Amino acid sequence: MKKLNLTFIKNLTLNKADKIFKKLPEEGQEKQIIPFLLNKQIKGAIALACATTLILSGSYSLDYLDSHENNVFSTDSFSILADGKELCKIRDLEQLDTALEELEYDLEEKHQHDLSIENNFQIEPSKAKDKEIISGEELYNILAENASYSILADAIKVDGNQVGVVNSELEAKNVVEKVKNYFTQNYDKESVIEVNTKEKVEISQIKASNTDIQAAEELANYIIKGTDEEQKYVVEEGDTYWTIAEYFNMSLDELISANPSSDSENIQIGEELNLVVPKPFINVQVKRKVTQEEKMPFETEYQYVSYMYNDEEVVERSGKYGISEIEAIITEQNGIQIAKETISESVISEPTTKIVTTGTQDPPPRIGTGTFINPLPGAMISSRFGSRSGGFHRGIDLAKATGSSIKATDGGTVISAGWDGSYGYSILINHGGGYSSRYAHCSDMYVSAGDKVYQGQIIAAVGSTGVSTGPHLHFEIMKYGSVVNPASYIY
Ligand SMILES: [Zn+2]
Repeated sequence: MKKLNLTFIKNLTLNKADKIFKKLPEEGQEKQIIPFLLNKQIKGAIALACATTLILSGSYSLDYLDSHENNVFSTDSFSILADGKELCKIRDLEQLDTALEELEYDLEEKHQHDLSIENNFQIEPSKAKDKEIISGEELYNILAENASYSILADAIKVDGNQVGVVNSELEAKNVVEKVKNYFTQNYDKESVIEVNTKEKVEISQIKASNTDIQAAEELANYIIKGTDEEQKYVVEEGDTYWTIAEYFNMSLDELISANPSSDSENIQIGEELNLVVPKPFINVQVKRKVTQEEKMPFETEYQYVSYMYNDEEVVERSGKYGISEIEAIITEQNGIQIAKETISESVISEPTTKIVTTGTQDPPPRIGTGTFINPLPGAMISSRFGSRSGGFHRGIDLAKATGSSIKATDGGTVISAGWDGSYGYSILINHGGGYSSRYAHCSDMYVSAGDKVYQGQIIAAVGSTGVSTGPHLHFEIMKYGSVVNPASYIY
């Protein structure tokens, strides 16, 4: 069989050469040249015939003829097209599914991510001979070359607005949990009844490019802060929260809420403070059951006596706050209480009523009377007016226990009440008519410069402030600025 075909081809080729040979003289070429040309043409034709024969003799076989016979018939197939252009033909559509599945799996392995093959392949019924049908491996390679795909990721939407994209649904859920944890981290877990978000939070799978995908941690921080803006300040010597807030035009509360992990009362030099006030995309509302102690206010009871003026008061018993324990359900949004519902209240200790004695008499006019009374009745004179151990004592010293009430020797206007060098806490009163009086070494003062006082009004308490050897009142009376002996005036 091999030989038979070989002969046939050989004959055909020689025939062609023969035609060329016969044709050439007819064109009227010169005789001398023609033989040369003819010879060359014939040799070339023969060489061609031999080469063809060699190739044919190599490929001719029984197998060849078997498939050659089948190729005659085209049977049902499917053409796979991309953008209208035929890529290949297959017999069985299942082959396509298998190859696509494999390709998706391999791409996911390669990218370590969920993917979606954007299948723009069309399938059309067609006819094909067996030799036109491609193998599974070839199909895979063709699809791999022509496939376009997108990454499947998960978006977090807050009230319908997308705030970010992460790798997977699990990561998205973790982001929401991180945000919730941020606002509940300081709570006693057992007290928490429920944690909700004020906004509707949705997680949905989307097609994304890998550059859209954020790290979960990064997205959680972005949602908490509501911005990816960063502005920091490094604390310097002498800074306080108050001065920093004022400098950056923020309220103190804003600066505190921007730095939940910093101690606002005790900032450290070199500490970094965040200056961007959080406006979280997700507001976390936490309902908690808490038990709290609360202060109960006390009442004040007055006792009236006729021997006191109605602007005088003596505290007989001080009041004390009571304590009650309340059980309440509180709702906090981002750590700030927005609702409170008291469930029960029990008194731990009752408050103590404050008891005050006051007078019924109207006080005398707050002007000088021209007479002077003893400012510290019942006191012992410990040092007299005048010459004293080489010096001059400008007043009299009246010794009495610390805290004893000092009265104004006459009515008038307070000129000064404050620290006055060696006098310690000291009060000076102008009585009119050229007279004034001084009260020194006080432990406490009840009047201020400009106050009008009446004769006998309690203005200070005995002390030992300034240069003093023990609790006493150093008392002076001055006439036109010069000291006089108080003992000559008081009765
Ligand atoms: Zn004195």
